[in-house]
Amino acid sequence: MSKFEYSQPVNLDDNHSKIFVADCLDKRFRAAFDEVAEQIAGGKNYDRAGTAGVSKAIVEGSDGGDTIRNIEVGIEKHGIEEVHLFDHIQCGLYGGEEEPEEHFEMLRRAGGIILANTPILRVHAYLFHGTHAEVVEI
Ligand SMILES: [Zn+2]
Repeated sequence: MSKFEYSQPVNLDDNHSKIFVADCLDKRFRAAFDEVAEQIAGGKNYDRAGTAGVSKAIVEGSDGGDTIRNIEVGIEKHGIEEVHLFDHIQCGLYGGEEEPEEHFEMLRRAGGIILANTPILRVHAYLFHGTHAEVVEI
C-alpha cells in the first residue's frame, strides 16, 4: 500500500474552533483566502468549507444546503461562534463579470439565511478583490 507522508503530524487533541470560513473554490484566491482567514482566526485555528459561489450558492441553494449543514455541524462539534463569508470578484458562479453590488446583495441575503437557520449571532462578509478583501456590512 502506498501512502503520503505529512510534514507535520495532525494534532488530534485540538478539535475546537471558534471561526468558520465559507470560501469559493477559485484557486486564484486560495492564498488570499488563507491569509485573511489566518488574520481573522489569529492562526490556522478555523473551520473551512469551500463551495462554488459562496453567497450565491447559499441564497439560491446550489450547494444543496451543505454550507448551512456544515455550519450547524461546526457549532455542535467544534464550538463555532462566528461565520465569515468570502466572496470574490470574477466569480464563475456569478458569470465572471459581475458588479460588486451584486455580491453585496447576495452576501447580505446569505447572512440573513445563516442567522435565520442557525444559532449564530453574527455573520461577517468580505468581497475579495485583486489586492484586498473589502468588509461588507451585513
Ligand atoms: Zn468563485
